[in-house]
Amino acid sequence: VLALRGVRKSFGEHVVLRDVDLTVEPGECVVLIGASGSGKSTLLRCVNLLEVVDDGVITFEGRDITDPRVDGDEVRSRMGMVFQAYNLFPHLDVIGNVTLALRLVHGVDAEEARSRGLAMLDRVGLAARAEARPDDLSGGQQQRVAIARALVANPRLMLLDEVTSALDPELVGEVLDLLTELKGEGVTMLLNTHEMGFARDVADQVCFLHDGRIHERGTPQQVIGEPREERTRAFLSRIR
Ligand code: ATP
Ligand code: MG
Repeated sequence: VLALRGVRKSFGEHVVLRDVDLTVEPGECVVLIGASGSGKSTLLRCVNLLEVVDDGVITFEGRDITDPRVDGDEVRSRMGMVFQAYNLFPHLDVIGNVTLALRLVHGVDAEEARSRGLAMLDRVGLAARAEARPDDLSGGQQQRVAIARALVANPRLMLLDEVTSALDPELVGEVLDLLTELKGEGVTMLLNTHEMGFARDVADQVCFLHDGRIHERGTPQQVIGEPREERTRAFLSRIR
């Protein structure tokens, strides 16, 4: 689905991504781990074309999306992105949030958008809250709505940037459980998280970023269970 080759990104003098190579196969869950500032969010933003890479190639569904002629909105319409802070539209109800892009970006008519939106809300366990305002939901419910909104157009790749780190601890589990279910249904995901238990149970591949470079990668058993690199060990011992 996705391949990065030699991706570099700087902000001014500050090099944030150095020669990043990464592949995400269909149905895989690839988890990025690393300290604050190591470049995890920037990597996801480059994939989503919210940032322009300085060098390297990103191939998505067989096409080089770093080509300047590529239509970023069209590429983003085939990806789903979820952020730490949900970013729901407060003036729309839940179903309005979930169906907005279906109607405006994908041209689905109102009736079909509503039925697809309700089906997706059912899948995330929130069909009963379709007419609620985001503010009336818990943080975990809001994040599940944000995930439903990102999934409803059948994206080929889901990008999730620390989707549980703004939640109260007792709400983290319901969102991680949902991601685990999606993985079981074959949804392709590239995400970053500090939840090592989740990474260990669900990831196919874990990449440890340090200073903009993938320092170590492998299965969760390798990278989290038996890290080879001293830096990986130091990072893991700090967050545990
Ligand atoms: P965290 O765990 O805190 O979310 P991260 O691994 O996601 O960290 P990034 O947000 O990718 O890290 O940031 C990597 C580096 O790039 C940081 O030093 C950050 O200050 C810098 N950076 C990110 N975005 C910009 C920007 N738009 N302009 C300038 N510097 C930026
Ligand atoms: Mg980040």
